[in-house]
Amino acid sequence: MRISYTCPGCHADITADVVMPVAALTCGACGSQLTLPVDALAAGPEGSPRLARCLVCPSTELFTRKDFPQRLGVGIVALGLAASCVAWAWRDLFLTFAILFGTALVDVVLYLVVPDCLACYRCGARYRGADGGGRFGGFDLETHERHRQSVARLREMERRPASGNRSPS
Ligand SMILES: [Zn+2]
Ligand SMILES: [Zn+2]
Repeated sequence: MRISYTCPGCHADITADVVMPVAALTCGACGSQLTLPVDALAAGPEGSPRLARCLVCPSTELFTRKDFPQRLGVGIVALGLAASCVAWAWRDLFLTFAILFGTALVDVVLYLVVPDCLACYRCGARYRGADGGGRFGGFDLETHERHRQSVARLREMERRPASGNRSPS
């Protein structure tokens, strides 16, 4: 299983290959250890790692997504659009549509080829080569929004430490 996560200690982006059984993740940048919850990881039917929750943060809500860098997907579409605009400027209708269809086809093929991975709503950690035993569905915007707001609230609380307790005299 390969885990991509942001180190809670130094906020570095870490990618680690993990072989079961594993008890802790070590950050390659700051050396801090992240102890994995005992009940979070089990062996699936084929000995593949099965996740019950996120290993990095306390969240139990993950979703299944394509293990595909979003920027690459957007980049392909943007490139196709730009190229088709050039072809359009040349008044080459056939080339314009050929380019548009071509880029759409590349996206579809990539989508079919690229494997799934699990991602955490709360901290954004990604897990490749692990399954959730059917526990986790696809991306849900409502859940995502809930986590985004709670993280924003936490940040806000960290910024204003205990100043609300003082009563006006
Ligand atoms: Zn670190
Ligand atoms: Zn998480």
